[in-house]
Amino acid sequence: MKIRKPMATNRTFTMIKPDAFSAGNSGAILKMIEEAGFKIVAMKATQLTPATAGKFYEVHKERPFYADLCAYMSSGPIIAAILEKENAVEDFRKLIGATNPADAAEGTIRKIFAKSIEANAVHGSDSDENAAIEGNFYFSQIERIG
Ligand code: UDP
Repeated sequence: MKIRKPMATNRTFTMIKPDAFSAGNSGAILKMIEEAGFKIVAMKATQLTPATAGKFYEVHKERPFYADLCAYMSSGPIIAAILEKENAVEDFRKLIGATNPADAAEGTIRKIFAKSIEANAVHGSDSDENAAIEGNFYFSQIERIG
């Protein structure tokens, strides 16, 4: 019997942040995401309130940038999406690049589109566990494929 290697996580969660959305870069970013092999299995345009942004980024509440981050993330519309691909979390982190665009590799989404370490164009989950939590934060079962 052929033993199949267990498939690494296949879903991650992303947001196109207010800076990229307001600059009209959502389409170009989604194109890069699809061309990298990710399938969109849930997506919506929405706007966070300071309170919902605070809840989303609760893990960072002790960090010095938390208040500014919550204000920024609620400053305009965003796109939230769940993406599917083999090894989704790790591959998506590679596609978006380092948190600070100054450190991001050439050709990554943040290198191309981010304005600053805060207004860094996109979010990408950092673990399978957080991908599930973050996807559930935005989407109910009937708002997603599968
Ligand atoms: N951030 C910031 N200042 C910092 C570090 C992070 O404003 O010094 C913001 C930035 O928008 C980042 C988010 O906080 O994407 C979450 O930080 P994290 O360290 O989790 O980075 P990420 O996982 O998004 O690369």
